[in-house]
Amino acid sequence: MKFSNMFIPTTKEAPKDATLPSHQFLVRGGFVNQVGAGIYNFMPLGKIVLEKIRAVVKEEMDNAGANEVQMGFVTPTSLWEESGRASTMGPELLKFRDRKNTSFVLSPTNEEALVDMVNNRITSYKELPINLYQINTKFRDEARPRFGLMRGREFLMKDAYSFHSTHEDLVREFNLMEKTYKKVYERLGLEFRIVEADSGAIGGSGSKEFMILANSGEDTIAVCDSCDYGANVEAATRKPNKKEALETKEIQKIHTPNCKTIEEVSNFLNIDAYYSIKAVIKKAIYENSSEVVVFFVRGTDELEETKACNAVEALEILDATPEDLQSANLVAGYCGIIDLPKDIKVIVDSELKDDNNVVCGANEQEYHLTGVDLTSLDLTFKDLILVQEGDTCPHCDGKLSYTKGIEAGHIFQLGTKYSSAMNATFLDANGKAQPFIMGCYGIGVSRLVAAVIEQNHDEKGCIWTKPTAPFMVDVIVSNAKKEDELEVGEKIYNSLKENQIETILDDRKNARFGFKMGDFELIGFPYAVVIGKKLKDGMVEIIDRKTLEKIDVSIDEVVSKLI
Ligand code: ATP
Ligand code: MG
Ligand code: MG
Ligand code: MG
Repeated sequence: MKFSNMFIPTTKEAPKDATLPSHQFLVRGGFVNQVGAGIYNFMPLGKIVLEKIRAVVKEEMDNAGANEVQMGFVTPTSLWEESGRASTMGPELLKFRDRKNTSFVLSPTNEEALVDMVNNRITSYKELPINLYQINTKFRDEARPRFGLMRGREFLMKDAYSFHSTHEDLVREFNLMEKTYKKVYERLGLEFRIVEADSGAIGGSGSKEFMILANSGEDTIAVCDSCDYGANVEAATRKPNKKEALETKEIQKIHTPNCKTIEEVSNFLNIDAYYSIKAVIKKAIYENSSEVVVFFVRGTDELEETKACNAVEALEILDATPEDLQSANLVAGYCGIIDLPKDIKVIVDSELKDDNNVVCGANEQEYHLTGVDLTSLDLTFKDLILVQEGDTCPHCDGKLSYTKGIEAGHIFQLGTKYSSAMNATFLDANGKAQPFIMGCYGIGVSRLVAAVIEQNHDEKGCIWTKPTAPFMVDVIVSNAKKEDELEVGEKIYNSLKENQIETILDDRKNARFGFKMGDFELIGFPYAVVIGKKLKDGMVEIIDRKTLEKIDVSIDEVVSKLI
């Protein structure tokens, strides 16, 4: 391609709200443009990158034996009522009505529609397993869309759903998907870590997240320095110390009889208030408690204290209306909650998410909670512990440290949650109807575009990894009005293309050399070939975008240097 033919509107202006390098550079580099809160268009360069990532995801999913499908972006709300998620998804689920007054949703994920596709079409265990996936637009009405492509409302996700007749077979597929995801992120040239995750209200027995390591990541993960253990702090665990080991050896379940307040739970178990709040909230979530539990941690400057309280008190303290609360960003920092049941709101100020000490030691506070039966908390050791940096790992004697990650993928062992709710069954070997045993697997395809840049940039702009770069080489003709420069530029451009090297020719006549170099650095092609002053000696310059190192080579050497 030639710059003169392409729409690449680079600009010096960064969006006002852009705090992340990926947000700034993807807009400034002419990759994407914003049309509304959390809604982005992909312009030509952005589309090329997106398609490259999509192609890698598709190839690896196909290699793993999954079948690609394409589902409607719009699904009838009735399907979501069958699964129960019409009410439990909360305000992230965007609903609307058509002219006949039928209610629909913009799909944020597609478990229901996939169960509906398979139901009555697969009827026997002999037709299982099957894994179906799509790479398609999703919509989530995120409370705080931000960071550009990182947290959009409309975004591109690869979502896959597998169906099995036995739990063992689900575990086999889950492990295969883990391997497949590993290949995807490796092929994209990303540094990542696979971590144990909390499946929260999505349910199921196991889930893992794929974290792209970057300081700007919104997730905190605990990683071991001597084995490959890693976990989202929400799900992290550690080796019990001797005292804890003794106390929990016999009983996995810890009972809290006669406790009416969180403090009583804390006192009874002789644990810090933080642990009990965490456990109680988890409990509330899992029990689908219908009353409102509001818990927040120093949410604003006025709120210097840690509090757990009911909704009415929260509104008073926040001086807010119920609508404000509804639209506030409800984040369950430590509590390991993914999808909150509609009526349970947990607010933890995101800036304080990393500060373990904020909630610990807050025993003096009085906590009020409604809707949770505190007398019969069946807590496990895992519910009660909080992992801190420097703790030992659950699998070895190494030490845990914290690092930041961008959630780029998430795989779940769902079990029969959706198939049971939607009455989707197959006949087993004995002719008995059984609900499908399911897994689901997501990759944030458009989020990956931003994640690549979070991990690979400098102060000048993007530095694409080779597999994600929109073009590998930018052939810059310093002054395209000079016939000889343009001619050599075209020659090099053609020979690179003949050698299957993706190349763009900067042949713009109306742009000065400095401007072209600026675009090269901002857009971040891995290499530039500059045709300029040294041409009279038959030489051109190759620049490595990552190191900004320059070497002089003869015109005939260019291809062999870049191949
Ligand atoms: P997050 O914790 O960041 O909100 P999630 O846990 O809600 O993500 P999943 O339901 O696990 O997301 O969806 C699968 C993948 O889709 C995520 O791992 C992420 O890469 C991507 N994703 C989720 N929400 C967004 C979003 N708002 N914008 C872009 N990508 C997203
Ligand atoms: Mg998440
Ligand atoms: Mg989310
Ligand atoms: Mg997730």
